[in-house]
Formats: sequence, C-alpha cells, structure tokens
Amino acid sequence: MTKPAPLFNRLALIGVGLIGSSIARAARAQGAVREIAASARSAATRRRVAELGLVDQVLESNAAAVAGADLIIVCAPVGVCGEIAKEIAPHLKSGAVVSDVGSVKGAIVRDMGPELPANVHFVPAHPVAGTEHSGPDAGFAELFVGRWCILTPPAGADPAAVERLAAFWRALGANVESMPAVHHDLVLAITSHLPHLIAYTIVGTADELGEVTRSEVLKFSAGGFRDFTRIAASDPTMWRDVFLANKDAVLEMLGTFNEDLAQLTRAIRRGDGDALFDHFTRTRAIRRGIVDIGQDSPAPDFGRPHPDLPAEPLPRPYATADDK
Ligand code: NAP
Repeated sequence: MTKPAPLFNRLALIGVGLIGSSIARAARAQGAVREIAASARSAATRRRVAELGLVDQVLESNAAAVAGADLIIVCAPVGVCGEIAKEIAPHLKSGAVVSDVGSVKGAIVRDMGPELPANVHFVPAHPVAGTEHSGPDAGFAELFVGRWCILTPPAGADPAAVERLAAFWRALGANVESMPAVHHDLVLAITSHLPHLIAYTIVGTADELGEVTRSEVLKFSAGGFRDFTRIAASDPTMWRDVFLANKDAVLEMLGTFNEDLAQLTRAIRRGDGDALFDHFTRTRAIRRGIVDIGQDSPAPDFGRPHPDLPAEPLPRPYATADDK
C-alpha cells in the first residue's frame, strides 16, 4: 500500500528527548514529513541524536533548526518554552505552524504566545503519552498509537492550521481532541499531575521510614509500592516545571484529594468497613472503564511477564493423604 503524501515538508524539533525522539521516529515511519531538522541544548544529546540517525539534520542552535520549517514542535521542558519561542521567533517561516508538547497548556499559551510573530500559526498540543524514561534513546515510534493528543488552539486560531496539526498527530497514531487550555490544565491536574505528586510523596515517605529498612521496602515492593516507583522515577526537571506551571489547578485538586483522604482516614479509624468497601468498589469500576475504552491492557498486573515454574518441582514440605 502506498503511503499518503507528507503533511509537512520540513519539521523542526526543538528538544529531542523521549517525546521529541518519538515524534521523529513516528513521523519518519509514517512518512508524515519530508525532512526533519532538530536541535537540543547539550552537545551530548545532539551527538547521540546524530548517532541514532533519527533526523536529517542536527543543528546547534534552535534558530538554525527552525529556518525553512513549516512545522515546528518545541519538545523541551515547560519552563524553557517561552525563552525558546523568543529565540526562534525572528527565524520562523511565514505561515509555519508552531506547536509544543508541554504537559501544561495555560503557561505555554502565556509564555510562548506573546513571543511569536503574527504571521505564524500557534497551536499548542499535549500528547497524553509517555514513560518514566528520558532522552533520545528512550523514544519509540509507537508511543502515540491509540493515545490522545489534546490541542489547545487559542481563540481566533486558523482552523486550517489546527486541522493540519491534528492530521499530523493522527498520522502518528494518536486520537485528537481540542479544548481550552484552562480546561486541559484542570483535567490533567487530576489524571496526571496529582497521581505524580502522590507517587513522589509515597516513595519519599517510604524512604524516610525509620522502622522499616530500605532493603525491606525494596524486597517487598510487589505489594503495591513498585507501581508508584515507576511514576516517581519520572524526569525531575519536567515535573518540577509541571507543578510550578500548573500551580492553581493542582492546588485545587489537592484540596479535594485531602478531603477525600480525610474521609477514608475517618472510615479506617472508626472501623467503617461499609464505607471502605463502597469506596473501593467505585474505584475498581473506574479501572475497568479505562480498560474498556482501550487505554490499558486487561491483562492482570499490567501484563507483566511472570517467571515460569521451576523445571524441577520444589520439595513439598507437607505430605497429603493422596501422596501416600
Ligand atoms: P526529555 O526526555 O528530558 O527531553 C527534553 C529535551 O529538551 C532534551 O533533548 C533537552 O536537551 C531539550 N532541551 C532542554 N532545554 C532546551 C533548550 N533551551 N533548547 C533546546 N532544547 C532544550 O523530556 P521529555 O519527556 O521528552 O519531555 C519534553 C516535553 O514533553 C515536556 O514539556 C513535557 O512536559 C512533555 N511531555 C512529557 C511526557 C513524558 O511522559 N515524559 C508526556 C507528554 C508530554 P538536553 O538533552 O541537551 O538537555
């Protein structure tokens, strides 16, 4: 089957970590663009991107990377996107679509929007897909398949430019939805930012417990703790920026969370088994709903492989009547 014509001629990626390198791999695999230029902050990352052969040109400066590009995607931490917009603004091609992948959208609109010239189309985006790994080696072409990419076009954005960007993300396998930046930040505060904060907290708390040794925490982590450690291993720079940039929505959700935690605390203290059972029944249904809409695998334990039984049966300490 022949591939459709590329949607953009030249894509420029500013930042080539997990997300930037996944976009490069997927855009190439799908023929979504004719050529890709990229820049990253450090010489080490630029060297690695060149070694991996992920893009056509690796450039030292962000300004050089965007020259002649008709789609620019800033794939750097939220806190530096405003600076990057300022740096690239004089070098953007007229009519280009300028986007990003930041996990917070209000701050991106605030920081990038005013820096960009009127003759480009600014369409912020957030692919809701990721892992706890960082850097160009961590990316993979399938990262966005079946995941959502949320576009937050500012009022008055050109619908044709929004549709071109939506088509690009669909070509990478994503489902696309548009919403206002403020709404995005509220939704993501509960679905992503608060879970990360809770994971960072619980892993830190376990680390500080005097009566339970660190080796016990690690050894018995399959009891639930290890699932938090995956999230708590996420990139510190990225997540520092997310909490600073989405402060209001996170604080609002945290307020509700603290009230709910107080209710469960009270139920445990009072021995109110019905309250606990009802709560856990409701949350189990939410997990099933996520599986039903294809946002996670139905396999138990996230589909983790389990080791085979040993080839030699284990010695049986207790003889039963049937053994005799
Ligand atoms: P990452 O793996 O740490 O990569 C970040 C990249 O940005 C690196 O290549 C870094 O270069 C580059 N960079 C930093 N400052 C720069 C600057 N001033 N100019 C040019 N490049 C610069 O991070 P990531 O996970 O891909 O995250 C990137 C963005 O995607 C963030 O805004 C994050 O909120 C968003 N996001 C992340 C996820 C996730 O799960 N990780 C999911 C959705 C969206 P060096 O390597 O040289 O420092």
